Amino acid sequence: MTAVLHDALLPTYPPTQVTFVEGHGTTLVDNAGREYLDFAAGIAVVGLGHRHPAPLAAAHAQLDRLWHASNLFGTEPARELAAALSTRFGGARAFFCNSGAEANEAALKYARKATGKTGVLALAGSFHGRTTGALSVTGQPAKRAAFEPLLGDVRFVEPNDVAGLRSAMSDDIGLVLLEPVLGEGGVIPLEAAFVAAARELDALLAFDEVQTGVGRTGTFFAFEQLGVTPDLVTLAKGLANGLPIGCLLAADGAADGFAPGDHGSTFGGNPVASAAAIAVCDTIDDELLAAVAANGERLRAGLRGLPHVVDVRGRGLLVGAELDVPVQPFLDAALAAGLVCLSSGSNVLRLAPPLVVDAAEIDRALTVLTEVLTA
Ligand code: PLP
Repeated sequence: MTAVLHDALLPTYPPTQVTFVEGHGTTLVDNAGREYLDFAAGIAVVGLGHRHPAPLAAAHAQLDRLWHASNLFGTEPARELAAALSTRFGGARAFFCNSGAEANEAALKYARKATGKTGVLALAGSFHGRTTGALSVTGQPAKRAAFEPLLGDVRFVEPNDVAGLRSAMSDDIGLVLLEPVLGEGGVIPLEAAFVAAARELDALLAFDEVQTGVGRTGTFFAFEQLGVTPDLVTLAKGLANGLPIGCLLAADGAADGFAPGDHGSTFGGNPVASAAAIAVCDTIDDELLAAVAANGERLRAGLRGLPHVVDVRGRGLLVGAELDVPVQPFLDAALAAGLVCLSSGSNVLRLAPPLVVDAAEIDRALTVLTEVLTA
């Protein structure tokens, strides 16, 4: 493998030995021409697979038409995407930005404006992004420590602890922010009873679906499997299949939040990213979602009982296998064997392949993982 030069990048990520230069479907190709099976999808981003023809054609067509005009004026793709997401949600309005962290910033501001309250309930172990507001509600002290003081009035509750949730609630809480599956915090799915208890609290309920949204868990929104409808949803990663985009959806019934001048983003709703996202929304149909659910089950079933695996969790194609040892050496070995995987925390192997992965590719990945975990 060719070493990558990181010298001119600030070292926010550890050095890597692989440089990918091309992708197609579930395959990545490095700069030495070696092919890899991609079970990371750019951290749960490239849902339709690399260079999927639908978003590719839509983005190309938009590149040839209009790149940017500013939100001071309307553009057709952003309006059309907002309408598509509203239909999927069952009635909502959209604010577009460029990342998951920005989408969560928008949710935090929206909730303050709508409720007049500053308090937030969030989950221990959660991840909501690296900007100052999103970091404030991220339940991972190690990520926050060097940047304190952050926003005050944030209380963290253990996932699925209904009693803890109720006792943490108080009058100053305007927002309850939940990841339906904690993607970075160990791939921990929330239980319906916990989410129902959150819905009963006197606060706006927001789901951070940056990682779980856009079909990743087998339904377009993960909350569809939980029996509640939130007031706010944030999306990003998979929405434009790899082009930068973020989105806050506010349910029609939610208290009024933003008015002109309250929030904005120069690039938010960018026509090229929005055009790709419309194509993504159009492509995710019931057949694909059913395949996501079935292939997720196949992957989980294959992981159960492998050496070092003590628990297997997840929904759809957001899968976690908790190991009894640190996961990094196995990620390195899998990569060397041509399989790209992720971690979630220090001891959970996270798998988030493109949603278009097929059963044979899942079996290939399981063969590599069996070898790697057995060695
Ligand atoms: N929220 C969740 C649930 C995420 O998984 C992530 C990224 O991993 C974010 C927010 C932050 O998204 P971004 O890196 O696009 O800012």
